[in-house]
Amino acid sequence: MTDTVATAVVKSGMTHLFIPGPTNVPEPVRRAMNVPMQDMRAADFGALTLPLFADLAKVFKTSRGRVFMFPSSGTGAWEAGITNTLSPGDRVLMSRFGQFSHLWVDMAERLGLEVECIDLPWGAGVPVDTYAERLTADREGRIKAVFVTHNETATGVTSDLAGVRAALDACGHEALLFADGVSSIASIDFRMDDWGVDLAIAGSQKGFLMPAGLSFVGVSEKALRARKTAGLSRCYFDFDDMARMNADGFFPYTPPTQMFHGLRAALDLLFAEGLDNVFARHRRLAEGVRRGVFAWGLDLCARKPDLYSDTVSAIRVPEAIDAREVIRIGYERYRTSFGSGLSQLAGKVFRIGHLGDLNEVSCLAALASAEMALCDAGAEIEPGAGVAAAQSWYRQSILPQAQAVAAE
Ligand SMILES: *Cc1c(COP(=O)(O)O)cnc(C)c1O
Repeated sequence: MTDTVATAVVKSGMTHLFIPGPTNVPEPVRRAMNVPMQDMRAADFGALTLPLFADLAKVFKTSRGRVFMFPSSGTGAWEAGITNTLSPGDRVLMSRFGQFSHLWVDMAERLGLEVECIDLPWGAGVPVDTYAERLTADREGRIKAVFVTHNETATGVTSDLAGVRAALDACGHEALLFADGVSSIASIDFRMDDWGVDLAIAGSQKGFLMPAGLSFVGVSEKALRARKTAGLSRCYFDFDDMARMNADGFFPYTPPTQMFHGLRAALDLLFAEGLDNVFARHRRLAEGVRRGVFAWGLDLCARKPDLYSDTVSAIRVPEAIDAREVIRIGYERYRTSFGSGLSQLAGKVFRIGHLGDLNEVSCLAALASAEMALCDAGAEIEPGAGVAAAQSWYRQSILPQAQAVAAE
């Protein structure tokens, strides 16, 4: 009897979700979605949707461009962006250093673009210098678009998007600038207008604190003009149909109204905290996770500190350990979901998603659970070491904030 009691896996309490999307949905957002169905052609429907468009533009930091919402995951927004602006055979400059940048290249090829792809070791970031060389060498302007995976979620790498804009400007290149901001927009500093981003992609289930199912595409004036000559086929994702209906707050097809109510609540939360504070929180919480990882004596997949992502950490496990075991044990014994190592990183890394609705104690829980799973999987790390390092960082870095609040 005692044995069964001692070995039973605890089923009470909550399951902890530390994958980099879908992220934890805050209660006010969940509750906001629990409303009766409504008529999406009612005259007052725009009262719900028009402010959402305006507020999304604030999050993307664009006053000159606009943001479309599609009922899809982020991948649909990639497709919308490409098919509305480019033509078959168009040359595009891309780089591949993780599963998401890899999938984006794959989509561009399958849609019929001629992809000039720079392959890098996974854990690297967008090669700004190589982009600059390629763009400078392209005197006839054959490259029509340059793609940047701003935050590579598979490796925990944030790239220098502003640097790519500077490279384009330095040689006066006219190519469109595409940014995948699915795991950065609303969590990490992102400035569509300042950085001259022509197409910015995001999804509801990461920094936007919602379930999967809505995607957002920020489109500059230049990218909107490009659709006039863009020859790729499109129908469901056509910007023209969308723009026509969106003018009065409507959609060309049945939109996910529950999601709009959730988005309203999510945007209210983001603005109440203040975007800059949201970014600072992500930075500070991520730093605690990193300190925890280093205290274990482990390393991140991201190759250098200036690439470290504030929304996700991909943690390399010791050679002798299979990261899949760590993830399995975390889930089965400790009711904690960690992100897996994707594709070539399978078994080599596990990921802690630290974006969205979370605080110090959530991150400490993630580290505590990871420590137990790592130890159980055979890693020689000292239980408590990571948690202690993160605790010390959180305590030390909260003091200036607490004092500022007290002084108000
Ligand atoms: C999650 C993610 C995607 C894909 O989004 P889906 O919503 O799963 O289609 C694309 N790019 C990045 C960087 C992501 O993190």
